[in-house]
Amino acid sequence: MKKNSNNSVNGHRCSFCGSHENEVEMLIEGINGFICDRCIFTASDIINRDIDKKQEIPSFKIQKPRGIKKELDKYIIDQDNAKRSVAVAVYNHYKRINNQISDDDSIELEKSNILLVGSTGTGKTLIARTLARFLNVPFAMADATVLTEAGYVGEDVENILVRLFQSADYDVAKAERGIIYIDEIDKIAKRDNNVSITRDVSGEGVQQSLLKILEGTKANIPPKGGRKHPEQPLVTINTTNILFICGGAFTGLENNIKKRLSGGGMGFGRETKTALNDNQALAQLQAEDLIQYGFIPELVGRIPVITHLETLTEKALHSILTQPQNALIKQYSKLFEMEGLHLEFTPEALKKVVQLSMERKTGARALRAILEKAMTDIMFESPSMKNVDVCIITEDVIEKGKKPIYKKLRKSA
Ligand code: ADP
Repeated sequence: MKKNSNNSVNGHRCSFCGSHENEVEMLIEGINGFICDRCIFTASDIINRDIDKKQEIPSFKIQKPRGIKKELDKYIIDQDNAKRSVAVAVYNHYKRINNQISDDDSIELEKSNILLVGSTGTGKTLIARTLARFLNVPFAMADATVLTEAGYVGEDVENILVRLFQSADYDVAKAERGIIYIDEIDKIAKRDNNVSITRDVSGEGVQQSLLKILEGTKANIPPKGGRKHPEQPLVTINTTNILFICGGAFTGLENNIKKRLSGGGMGFGRETKTALNDNQALAQLQAEDLIQYGFIPELVGRIPVITHLETLTEKALHSILTQPQNALIKQYSKLFEMEGLHLEFTPEALKKVVQLSMERKTGARALRAILEKAMTDIMFESPSMKNVDVCIITEDVIEKGKKPIYKKLRKSA
């Protein structure tokens, strides 16, 4: 290879653009020809652009529904039906994206946004969050109760996209295939008795705004959030491939379903035919029940996957404490282990945590609160304690706030 090679009488030329060696900064000699510095830069530019293009739309390697469910099983106890439906929906969602990339437009696959119906603390948010983490896509969460139509006091629906964009490290392509979880969606159902002049709590306006982003729109968002200003540059996010998971407790919905199943009437002995418990009734939830509940049909139509999470039993709460990959007891044990202490809970202590949680009726949410209350003082004291190896949490620690049993395994020197 030569720099400014001039070992020929007329001088050499670039084999790509034909420039003479005197016209370029550098001419590099290969086996059968030469290349100038300008052609090297152009070629490198073409290669980089091609790599960028490929990176923009990588096809999604996604596990089969069975694999997705297995992944959810590591973190989420029970809720088998919900996990199965979500696994299928997510699999189809990313298959649909891959189908777009492959330009096969023979049949248009519709987006499978998901509705999770279940009382508080049953794992709705956990399912959405776990999916996003496992799929390695950006995730954002919003509470429907604070959402308003653009222009009202409150949070614009588009602000959810700002959060997703931020979670995607300000990368538009990444954000456009993320997951958004909208909590308490039931609170924006139309209610005849909702009257407010400061914000549209009647729900319909918010539902319309949500509908737009759920079905797919190009939204212009201020990248840092807040109100839009005319002089602020906006970022365009296409929501077509964003997966929306909505969750809500839908209090009273089970009664609408029971009514429907009994043929619409009440009384006159019809109850006997529909002696379903709430979980059984909710398992038969259909789109029309949601419309009856106060949702506009267009929005219901955009959330085709509807699934129900059951109220957690005592057994489930016990498993949640101890089994998942990041179970609360495992987390506390880890924290103690880092102090050189072995932490143990007696079976009675665990049972008490579960019992107290059941009373609070906030699902698995209460587990953390109860443990946190019992453990704070212990975690305050134990790092400064000398000559202890084991800390045993008994029922009395949980119920009466008594001190745990500390033990020393070896005799100190
Ligand atoms: P919600 O249904 O109200 O969205 P979350 O998913 O936020 O409830 O659950 C609150 C906490 O309770 C979670 O962080 C998780 O620790 C625990 N939890 C709830 N349900 C489950 C479940 N089925 N399996 C494991 N943990 C759960």
